[in-house]
This record gives sequence, structure tokens and C-alpha cells, in this order.
Amino acid sequence: MVEPDPSYREAASTRSASSIRLQFSTPINITLSTFGLRFLREAPRRLRHGAEAAELGLVESSYLYLATPQGRAALERQTAIQQSLSVPVRLHEREALAVRYPWLNTADLAAGADTLSGEGWFDGYALLAALRAANLRSRVEYRRDRVIGFEQSADRQIAAARLHEGGRIACRFAVIAAGTRSRELAAHAGVDLPVFARKRNVFVFTCPVSTPRCPLVIDPSGLWFRPEGDRFLCGPPADPDPDVSPDDFEVDHAAFENIAWPILAHRVPAFESVRVSSAWAGHYDYNTFDQNAFVGPVPGIANLLLASGFSGHGLQQAPGIGRGLAEYICFGEYRSIDLTALSYARFLENTPLRELNVI
Ligand SMILES: Cc1cc2nc3c(=O)[nH]c(=O)nc-3n(C[C@H](O)[C@H](O)[C@H](O)COP(=O)(O)OP(=O)(O)OC[C@H]3O[C@@H](n4cnc5c(N)ncnc54)[C@H](O)[C@@H]3O)c2cc1C
Repeated sequence: MVEPDPSYREAASTRSASSIRLQFSTPINITLSTFGLRFLREAPRRLRHGAEAAELGLVESSYLYLATPQGRAALERQTAIQQSLSVPVRLHEREALAVRYPWLNTADLAAGADTLSGEGWFDGYALLAALRAANLRSRVEYRRDRVIGFEQSADRQIAAARLHEGGRIACRFAVIAAGTRSRELAAHAGVDLPVFARKRNVFVFTCPVSTPRCPLVIDPSGLWFRPEGDRFLCGPPADPDPDVSPDDFEVDHAAFENIAWPILAHRVPAFESVRVSSAWAGHYDYNTFDQNAFVGPVPGIANLLLASGFSGHGLQQAPGIGRGLAEYICFGEYRSIDLTALSYARFLENTPLRELNVI
């Protein structure tokens, strides 16, 4: 494992909202989240060190997708797709929504969809730290360095990764899982990865009024909010959404005042009097082709594997993707979850795997 920054300060995994949902439109994404949630439930025991359980702060709750009369048909279609894939999702009419979530302003809404189980949020950094600790106990070697290229044989197979400090690591397989830097790494192997850094601002705020049983709410505007202990997190919609430098972590503070707050105060009247306590910016490794991850071997370079382009839903998928890639490396095939749908081949063949629910 080559990692230039063992503090992971700028990694998306540290800057994530770390939430997990079943309300996707693509079967593979639902399968990966189902696997992810099972892993998170079992993680305190499976990743324990001696008597010390790995505490990942899993909160089982729900997402709540809201629709205006104009968006109702689309929400209904997505709910039907999810129900056909056994997601325990329910569509609530406006009146029922108002009873279920009395703190919500439903005046301009037609319906909303939430789930009975299978969604929630967790501590993303704790997951990263617990996996790293478990790896170290299993004698995985972590090298503080940066991969700057690859040595390839005449048939393009990867023979070694070249390191910034001057060394090289010979390898049977190489996995590119470098988040927003994956594109530049793949280019060194002659692979064009349509993955770019897109900035997302997250604001932490407090509210003196309680909002019982508050799920992760997706407003029709694209803004999301959810509870985090005695506070709330929210992310305003990113529109426009330009590619940015992977080094640009400056928070757009005006986005709270000008975009987030008016939407929050409209949707939840109690949010009229919120106070922002902190904020951060992070990057999606955004796949501009179809907003789904590229996972597995690159056609023509069988020992170069990808795990990138997660477009904002990568942390919940990490357990399933990690498992799948480990199986591919050890057995030459996927066993627990078939990840073929996420193959990079779809980009070469121009057959996008469209996900309708990207936040
Ligand atoms: C604000 C925000 C909210 C999000 N919310 C959610 C959510 O609610 N649910 C969800 O599932 N996902 C969410 N995501 C997405 C999720 O966090 C990411 O998809 C996931 O963390 C990506 O993990 P990763 O390991 O691929 O990338 P990262 O965590 O970014 O890790 C990449 C690592 O590669 C290293 N690296 C870079 N270049 C090199 C190199 N040349 N050599 C070696 N190493 C290198 C970096 O230092 C870094 O540590 C969110 C992301 C953001 C930014």
C-alpha cells in the first residue's frame, strides 16, 4: 500500500458525509450498499483488536427523497425500480409525510420516499483507521511514498510501480485507488480515465429546536441534510459543478448563506435559526461518463485493476469493492459480488451504466 499522506487529511474518505443508502436505481449499487451495511454492522466484532471493538458509529436510519408535483413521476418510477429489487422503500403521499415528519414543510411537496431499514450513516474516518489497523496486524506493508508511474512489459502488463522517492515495487497486480489522482496515475499506464475532482462543501450547524427521527433528507433542490449527534450536516447543490484542482480545499462559505440556508429554512421552519459551527470542502472522484465507479481489470492490461470514479457514493461501497478486488486477485474471479457491471470496458464500448440517483 503506497500512500503519500498517512494522515489522510485530504482524502475523500476523511472528508466524506459517510452515509449509506439503498435508494439507487442500479442493481449493482444496491447490492454493494447491502454488502456495505452488513460489513458495517459486523465491523466492531470483525475488526476488533483484542478486547477492543472497532467503534464505527453506525446509525441505522433512512434517506428521505422529497418530490414536488413536477418530480413526483420520477420519484414514483425510481421507487418502483427499487421495490422490484427488494429495497424496502415506501412512497408517502404529502399528508402522510406531514404526519410522519411533523417538522417538515410539505406545502410544496407531492410525495417522499424512505426505507424501513438498510440505510444510515457512520464514521468514515473510523472505518478507514480500523481497516488500516487490521491491515497492519495482518502485516500489510504501508509505504509513505507516491506512485509516479509504471514499468510495463511489451504487452502492456504492469511489471512494477515507480515511486517518487526513487524506488520501485515489482507487482503481480497493481490497483489504482488514488481518488481524484487516479486519472493522472492511469494516464501513466496509457489509460484514459474520465475521472475529475469536483468540490463539495459540507456545513455543520446547530438548531435549538428538535426534529425527532430526522433521516438524511434529499430536498428537491438537490440539497441534503442529516443529523450528526446533536448537530446537523448539510451539503448545498453543486450547480455549476466545474472540475477543480485536487489541491483546492477552500470552503465556499457564501454557499451556506446564499444557497443552503434559504432552502433549509424553507424546508424545515425550525432551521430558520440555525448557526453554522464549522465547514469543510472535499472532492468527489467524479466519473463524467456515467457517475459510477470503474472497478476491476483494464481490458488489454489484465493485471492493472481500477477502483475509482465513485462520484460521491464510494465509502459505502468500499467493503464490497475491496472484497471483490481481493477475490479477483486471489482467485481470478469475483465470488461474493459480481462487479463486472462496473468494468472500465463500458467506457471503451460507450455503454454507460446510468445511475439516476446521484447526490
Ligand atoms: C463531501 C463528500 C461527501 C461524501 N459523502 C459520501 C456519502 O455520504 N457516502 C458515500 O458512500 N460516499 C460519500 N462520498 C464519497 C466517498 O467519500 C469517496 O467515494 C470515497 O471516500 C473514495 O475513497 P478512495 O479511497 O477511492 O479515495 P480517497 O479517500 O480520496 O483516497 C485516495 C488516496 O490515494 C492517495 N493517493 C493519491 N495519489 C497517489 C499516488 N500517486 N500514489 C499513491 N497514493 C496516492 C491519496 O493520498 C489518498 O489517501 C463523499 C465525498 C465527499 C468529498
